[in-house]
Amino acid sequence: MTRSTTRLDYTSWGRVVRVPHQVISPGYRDELPACLHMGAGKAPLLAVGMRRSYGDSVINTGNTLVDMTGLDRLIAFDATTGRLRCEAGATLDDILRVMVPRGWFLPTTPGTRFVTLGGAVANDVHGKNHHRAGSIGCAVNSLTLLRSDAPPQRLHPGEPLFHATLGGLGLTGIISDVDITLIPIKSAFLDVERIPYGNIEEFFSIARESMEGFEHTVSWIDCANGGQALGRGIFQRANWCQDGPLTPHQSRGGLAIPFDLPTHMLNGTTIRLFNTLYNHLQQRGAHRQRTHYAPFFYPLDSLRNWNRMYGPAGLYQYQCVIPQPHAQEAIEALVRVIAASGAGSFLAVLKTFGARSAGGYLSFPLEGATLALDFANRGAETLHLMSRLDRIVAEAGGRLYAAKDGRMPAAMFQSGYTDWNRLKNLKDPATSSDFWRRVSY
Ligand SMILES: Cc1cc2nc3c(=O)[nH]c(=O)nc-3n(C[C@H](O)[C@H](O)[C@H](O)COP(=O)(O)OP(=O)(O)OC[C@H]3O[C@@H](n4cnc5c(N)ncnc54)[C@H](O)[C@@H]3O)c2cc1C
Repeated sequence: MTRSTTRLDYTSWGRVVRVPHQVISPGYRDELPACLHMGAGKAPLLAVGMRRSYGDSVINTGNTLVDMTGLDRLIAFDATTGRLRCEAGATLDDILRVMVPRGWFLPTTPGTRFVTLGGAVANDVHGKNHHRAGSIGCAVNSLTLLRSDAPPQRLHPGEPLFHATLGGLGLTGIISDVDITLIPIKSAFLDVERIPYGNIEEFFSIARESMEGFEHTVSWIDCANGGQALGRGIFQRANWCQDGPLTPHQSRGGLAIPFDLPTHMLNGTTIRLFNTLYNHLQQRGAHRQRTHYAPFFYPLDSLRNWNRMYGPAGLYQYQCVIPQPHAQEAIEALVRVIAASGAGSFLAVLKTFGARSAGGYLSFPLEGATLALDFANRGAETLHLMSRLDRIVAEAGGRLYAAKDGRMPAAMFQSGYTDWNRLKNLKDPATSSDFWRRVSY
């Protein structure tokens, strides 16, 4: 039965804002039309999942959120085709625990399994195999969408409302269930190779050479140290093992950070030190290893609430993509500015994207390279740094990822996402978010 509560300090993963919301928590799909009607003509609403988005795309200040996590049932599975239909609130964690022992895996996955399938579709998430598999939308066969101004509809690739909903940030209505094709695996382990690189040029050369032979590629890049260390990193490339146990990951567990760390613990010196140590540790030990999918795809999931490391003021994540022709030059410029600022983060990720697209109007990936890193929120200083990075990204024809954003200017959103008006035309009038109000005027 639908529950409705007033929450005063609802926040997203970045924890920069904490604001009041009315939260409706449906338990069954047939309760969703009533939830939508609560939004129609009144305060706008927004469906949310695990709120692993960092910024204000899951914030709807003073209005209503529909918490979808109670709708987490797996509805049907066809073991001959790998097609799975499940409710939008099912998490990737739930799906993998059931499907890995049967020899199936997600077609692609973000860096945390604590996200819902509906949330993953509404951001058209990408993973380490983007250069091969594209984003998650490439594997979605259909989805059911409920809107305040139309009866429930089953949407398929090729239909405009499907492409508006894919990466559509919950603005076209509520996704109630998704039909997706999983991939077969013969083992829960991957054969992972680690290659240190000394600068960004070397990164691009290894990435090019790895495109054909490796299904998964990603790299850690040191954005904290300048000089000789500028742009060094560790490239990881992997393929699924062809035999081995189909052991799923352990549920939950792991260490938790029980309170906000004091802000002064995180400064230029500790971050540089962490990056130096991390580089050192990664260079030691075997350079080729059989690794279970959990530490390979979800290294941060073993530390619950790691976002509390950034202290009570929270963090911003900055993730941009730069189109292929300017990728190397612009990434070098970004890393130089970040290293000189002393604000670089613990873990920064650099990866190349391929050309395959699912056609979401607001989907983030472009063929080129993506850089993602966290900045502790130090107010104006951090916002100023990100504005400097924006200029480099915009000049190179790139854009920022809405799932990670809490501050991009409207002009940057509109020039980066040239199809944004197509989404605007198909938006459900009953929905909104702080992100949308900020970028769409
Ligand atoms: C540690 C970490 C690593 C990450 N790594 C990656 C990565 O590698 N690649 C990547 O692409 N992303 C990554 N992300 C971002 C994350 O995958 C996305 O933000 C994802 O969409 C979060 O899913 P969620 O269930 O938490 O949805 P939420 O954050 O709650 O919502 C995300 C969006 O979906 C909408 N939404 C949610 N449910 C529904 C629904 N049922 N119907 C309609 N709209 C809905 C919301 O309105 C919102 O706009 C990472 C995040 C973290 C914290």
